[in-house]
Amino acid sequence: MLPFIKALWEPKAIHRLDMAMGTVVTQLVYGKGAREAVEATAKELRRLEKLLSFHDPDSDINKINASAGLKPTSVHPDVISVLNTALRVSELSMGAFDVTVGPLVRLWDFRSPHPTLPDMGDIKAGLALVDYTSIDITAEPPMVSVSNPGQSIDLGGVAKGYVTDRMAQTLGAHGVRSACLNLGGNVLVIGVKPDGKLWEVGLQHPAGEQGKYFAVVRAADKSIVTSGVYERYFEFAGERYHHIIDPRTGWPAESGVISTTIVGESSALADAVATTVLVMGLAHGIELVRRLGLEAVVVTTDSRIYVTDGLTDSIHFVPGLNPSLI
Ligand code: AMP
Ligand code: MG
Repeated sequence: MLPFIKALWEPKAIHRLDMAMGTVVTQLVYGKGAREAVEATAKELRRLEKLLSFHDPDSDINKINASAGLKPTSVHPDVISVLNTALRVSELSMGAFDVTVGPLVRLWDFRSPHPTLPDMGDIKAGLALVDYTSIDITAEPPMVSVSNPGQSIDLGGVAKGYVTDRMAQTLGAHGVRSACLNLGGNVLVIGVKPDGKLWEVGLQHPAGEQGKYFAVVRAADKSIVTSGVYERYFEFAGERYHHIIDPRTGWPAESGVISTTIVGESSALADAVATTVLVMGLAHGIELVRRLGLEAVVVTTDSRIYVTDGLTDSIHFVPGLNPSLI
């Protein structure tokens, strides 16, 4: 093809990488206006990070937490939206997902260079504070209150998905029709690739180094969100302790599931459900996935893989790496 025709025909690709929300955020955006769209999306990412962070003392979430048991807090409507998704999953999972898990998460210090196990008394005290029904929301004006002092909201299991949805909305508002967003394993694809083919999203091998995939899912206009116990953990006395906490025990969940990928429309919902399946285990987790009309790929501790019916045509296993299918 003549060079100038090729230049006209070839879609412009903008690639951008940010560090945000404790992870790597990548955007691959095609088409006219992609550059402006990506700038707007990066701004949206920063705005939401400031609202939702558990670590930023000025975030809306920490304002709510500081006022727990005292008074309601005025928040941005985004905080109401993300909490509504979190509370829906908390209810449907009967508290396996609990957005007030903050006091327990804080006891398991994954950031420390010399982590130790929490004190049993502290875990008992933490467990008494975890209760999503203590959250009270009003939409107009947007206000949130939490019943008891010491309780705290931690959006770690759902915020990346929510932010992904909002970034996709921003791209859509800029007329983008082909893009791929990745917030540390929260992947969302818009449309198809510029060549008209489906996007291919690799699923991280739970036991492999980062970037080693055991399967690929082909998709268009979908969120593909993976949560795994290998993502954040520490080792103590030869044992591994990971970051998904079972709100019934206060300890890292031991459900027999090590990785879950959820495929659906809403990235926030997929994010929350991916975390939940790691707490609920295969049987109850799949029940929840079906109830919500989602699809899933679940890898168990004994290296077996469960794939829901709606995905069997779009998943392809990497030869030589696939554990046995259930
Ligand atoms: P994800 O990477 O989406 O699976 O989320 C993991 C994060 O969710 C953790 O780092 C905690 O901040 C939070 N989390 C841990 N356990 C729970 C739980 N049972 N319910 C809700 N959030 C949780
Ligand atoms: Mg999650």
